[in-house]
Amino acid sequence: MRILITGGAGFIGSHLVDLLVERGDDVVVLDDLSTGRLDNLARHTSGESGPGTFRFEEGNVLDRALVDRLIGESEYVLHLAAAVGVHTILNEPLRSLRTNIHGTENVLDAAVAHHAKMLLVSTSEIYGKNTSDKLDEGADRILGSPLTARWTYAAAKGIDESFAQAYGKELGLEVAIARPFNTVGPRQTGRYGMVVPNLVRQALAGEPLTVYGDGSQTRCFGFVGEVAPAMVALVETPAAQGRAVNLGGAREVSILELARTVIEVTGSTSDITLVPYSEAYGEGYEDMQRRVPDNTLAGEIVGYEPKIPLEEIIETVAEDQRNRSTIAETVA
Ligand code: UDP
Repeated sequence: MRILITGGAGFIGSHLVDLLVERGDDVVVLDDLSTGRLDNLARHTSGESGPGTFRFEEGNVLDRALVDRLIGESEYVLHLAAAVGVHTILNEPLRSLRTNIHGTENVLDAAVAHHAKMLLVSTSEIYGKNTSDKLDEGADRILGSPLTARWTYAAAKGIDESFAQAYGKELGLEVAIARPFNTVGPRQTGRYGMVVPNLVRQALAGEPLTVYGDGSQTRCFGFVGEVAPAMVALVETPAAQGRAVNLGGAREVSILELARTVIEVTGSTSDITLVPYSEAYGEGYEDMQRRVPDNTLAGEIVGYEPKIPLEEIIETVAEDQRNRSTIAETVA
């Protein structure tokens, strides 16, 4: 199959490239390398991978003509290109909004025009401050004020989902939506705020682990090795078309517990430092206290059943960071 992956040089995108090239698909990656890195695709750019083919196109999803040309060559498009990470959202709100709204619109338009099937990669952030136990896909989105920059990511991705539904209903686009919950694993960088690579880097460097707030906030970390295959299955499964599907981890863990586990798994001598939110993100930041997925639908539709324990996931992240040529690549 001919597949375009927008954002394919990023963390999740590059794992999708691996899976698809390894099973024999012809993959084109569109990425502007703003947060993605060619290093993530090293074995493909060096021509060592196969049996499928690989091509890299440097460019932005805001470039309509480029998006149209590339989707014109494709049967499937996996749309991951987005401005991601809390730091990006807070520091570059304009770029974030434009990329996450107009970029997605460009991809949807081209997918309709060329009859490509599409996977929109959304986010668990769209649930906002809904702390219910086991958020199912119909759960309410509870967002803070539009004046609080933190919520613009969730707002933009929510619009993307609404757009995708509308393109499906009115224009016949075949599109499935994935909602990953805190996906982690090798190649993720802590540079844009993500907690697991950041804590692992600190633990390996013998620095204090920075836990924001009181550390009682919880997350359910999904493993990229389980989430990426589920995304591929979603785009290929008729039952997923026109639906949004959660892809999260099985275990709810507090960030303080996560930090302790990182120290244990890496055998680090680091301490844990509690950092007030205002220091970590500036005044007025609102964190999500809890975000727990109901993964039932993904289990039913594509057999998604997260099994890898958190300790093992952390170990893969630590191993990846130890193997990097320079520690600078993982610096927050
Ligand atoms: N966090 C932390 N220390 C860090 C980075 C993040 O305690 O060095 C916290 C952050 O405040 C949040 C959780 O870890 O409560 C997850 O943060 P991340 O940015 O990875 O994901 P998201 O907030 O989007 O769930």
